Amino acid sequence: FIPLGVLGALAVIGGVIWLSRRRLSLRGELATAVRRREFFMHYQPIIELDTGICVGAESLVRWRRPDGSLVRPDLFIPLAEEAGLIEALTDQVIDHVIADMRELLTQDRTAHIAINLAAEDVSSGRALKVLSAKLQGTGIHPQQIWLEATERGFIDIRRARTSLANARRIGHCVAIDDFGVGYSSLQYLQQLPLDALKIDKSFIDAIGTDSATSPVTSHIIDMAKTLGLFTVAEGVETPAQLAYLQARQVEFGQGWLFSKALPPAEFVAFHQQRKQQ
Ligand code: C2E
Ligand code: CA
Ligand code: CA
Ligand code: CA
Repeated sequence: FIPLGVLGALAVIGGVIWLSRRRLSLRGELATAVRRREFFMHYQPIIELDTGICVGAESLVRWRRPDGSLVRPDLFIPLAEEAGLIEALTDQVIDHVIADMRELLTQDRTAHIAINLAAEDVSSGRALKVLSAKLQGTGIHPQQIWLEATERGFIDIRRARTSLANARRIGHCVAIDDFGVGYSSLQYLQQLPLDALKIDKSFIDAIGTDSATSPVTSHIIDMAKTLGLFTVAEGVETPAQLAYLQARQVEFGQGWLFSKALPPAEFVAFHQQRKQQ
């Protein structure tokens, strides 16, 4: 006879072991996946909130394993960072974005695509050099590529400052991603050269439902305005959230209310229907 409490504890331990084994085996597979280029991109439309116009998209990486299964980026991106594979992965992301979106970006100069950069990409400055080199001769203007820098794991703020300042000098627009989720957000906000702030989905979820959290959302919007940054709301799912964001003059938004992340051709069609005329 084993008491229920012990059974529960065993189940929890078993679960933890299963999870860490899965992480380990995925981490092992990731190096091969990078070598075999098992990644592709989806594009989530970004909407100008007061007009409903599609101004571009955020590129979001996807990993399809040889058995056909998909692994979520919030699982494999941190693993790639840990395993020292993120820079190789970011190179592939840049290749895909250029190949997928070159036609659209050179035909419509008002369109832009946002690329997510990991902390290591920003600190080392390498990804930005690679991006500049790869953009050469494509006809895509640096102004059409927005960069989303996460504060998660920022190691060296001085180096990050330098490379973001360089990126802005050549014309990229730089946004801080998932603002408010990290621990030293305010410090980064003051010290990094930025154009925009992306409000994390958790703060959008709080609008109209959570009376304890939504004042924080309101303060984040105020803070961005005080600092002269434009704002992009992520994870907009309801008309009530949209109405609030419009009333607060948040410039841009993305979320399932408008569209999920789409394969390249579907995004191009979406953009064609909802672009600036
Ligand atoms: P993120 O940058 O905060 O991206 C937004 C995530 O929210 C995406 O998940 C997107 O599909 C999801 N999302 C957007 N709208 C909604 C909505 O209305 N409702 C809900 N429930 N979810 C929504 P995804 O694609 O799974 O990406 C997860 C995270 O992985 C990203 O979070 C980003 O941190 C990272 N990531 C994705 N692509 C890349 C990449 O190319 N490079 C790097 N370094 N990181 C990436
Ligand atoms: Ca992002
Ligand atoms: Ca984000
Ligand atoms: Ca987020």
